[in-house]
Amino acid sequence: MESLISHYQQLLGLPSNWNVDNVDLSLPHKRVTIKLKYVGQDVTCPECKTSCSIYDHAPEQRWRHLDTMQFETILVARLPRVNCKKHGVKTASAPWADKHSRFTLMFEGFVVQLLQHCASTQAVASMLRLSWHSVDQIMRRAVARGMKRRDTEPIRHLGIDEKSFRAGHQYVTIMNDLDGGRVLDVVETRTTKATVKLLTSLAAKQRKRVLSVSVDMWKPFAHAVRKKAPQADIVHDRYHISKYLNDAVDAVRRQESRALKTAGDKTLIGSKYTWLRNPENMSDKQRADFDQLMTCELQTGTAWSLKNMFRAFWVLTTRDAAEYFFQYWSDAVDRSELKPMIKVKDMMARHIEGILNFTRHRTTNAVSEGLNSKIQLIKASARGFHSFKSYRTRILFYCGKLDMAI
Ligand SMILES: [Zn+2]
Repeated sequence: MESLISHYQQLLGLPSNWNVDNVDLSLPHKRVTIKLKYVGQDVTCPECKTSCSIYDHAPEQRWRHLDTMQFETILVARLPRVNCKKHGVKTASAPWADKHSRFTLMFEGFVVQLLQHCASTQAVASMLRLSWHSVDQIMRRAVARGMKRRDTEPIRHLGIDEKSFRAGHQYVTIMNDLDGGRVLDVVETRTTKATVKLLTSLAAKQRKRVLSVSVDMWKPFAHAVRKKAPQADIVHDRYHISKYLNDAVDAVRRQESRALKTAGDKTLIGSKYTWLRNPENMSDKQRADFDQLMTCELQTGTAWSLKNMFRAFWVLTTRDAAEYFFQYWSDAVDRSELKPMIKVKDMMARHIEGILNFTRHRTTNAVSEGLNSKIQLIKASARGFHSFKSYRTRILFYCGKLDMAI
């Protein structure tokens, strides 16, 4: 028994004021229970770190530790309580665990590593015989650790995006560091107030040095940027504009398809995705079908051509060229007399400053898009998020590039 105790003493790497008092091995429960005892003369106050006398010992607590072989391993201890002159009677902190955790730090570190290799909370929970809730708590503490360690290095280009959350029109707003390819934070809803909160999650000195913020043409986002980072240019990038143009082409297709169908013409039926593809991404068969459709001189074909024409905007490098191109393209849209296209063009004209700003910053949408698809995967592998908090935790855990080590 003596050798077993000293063996565990070494394995646990306890500070000198903690001893292994007893090791109990239960074969039927496949469990090792290690009882620890405080042997120090005095103890530090958890609030002010002053060394104080021991008042008494708190009731027994248990912490799950890393398994010993296939045996679940539990640490048991009564934490000493201090009598601090300033703070009164307080329970000392355990060197092996976070304040409110039922797991040791080493165990939590192990869970974090497993989660990083396996995006399913449920899979990790069942592998370690833990509840979904316990794993969720461990993730939350890991994210809190990582967020605290974030530095205040300058961030040059931000991206702010909305993302639907749950069915119905519930949204979250996500702020990305476009150069660092990471999510900075997530808030509920997509209002000005929420976006202000998101921006103020950055340190003031960071916020003052932001050069540009890529946003959708959604007023609350721009309002919040004007308020909290007035020096930054608002940029409406390709990602956001393309989405509107695609939707407009689809609106033209739906209208036209209905009209043709009434006249007994099925040309456009089932062609929705054909109009979303770019020619260079089409297979030979898709290309042939597409060319066939284009010979029909449809309104949808015209709308598609206008959308496709706008792709040339994104390679322009000077503001003058971009301004000239936009005017030229706007005239072509007007001549088409296609209402959905004109509507988007008008909206773009109202936000022209932000669109032209693209030529200055050239922030790409690739980062936001990449993060979005990663978030989509997280969403799919989780069995629905109970709360916004869990959703935020996962986004930051997997896309925040945080240092979550224990
Ligand atoms: Zn104190």
